Amino acid sequence: MKSNTNKNLPCAIFGHNYIRSKTNIDYTVELTCTHCDVVVVTDDNGNFDTNTVTNTQLKDTLQKLYRLKQRTLKTKAS
Ligand SMILES: [Zn+2]
Repeated sequence: MKSNTNKNLPCAIFGHNYIRSKTNIDYTVELTCTHCDVVVVTDDNGNFDTNTVTNTQLKDTLQKLYRLKQRTLKTKAS
């Protein structure tokens, strides 16, 4: 499987840039992110839970990466 990590990073920081790509007959809406091409479908209340989970995981990973980077920078500076 191809890694999308780099492509998803801006989305994890700034949030997905969704555009409405399709409106279904049952009033659910399909949204596509212009950055990482992730597709979410809202329920009839306009919620998309799948995205929340993905974002949380990405944020967690980003935080770990950030801490690692800080550690590396400190080591190089001293
Ligand atoms: Zn995105």
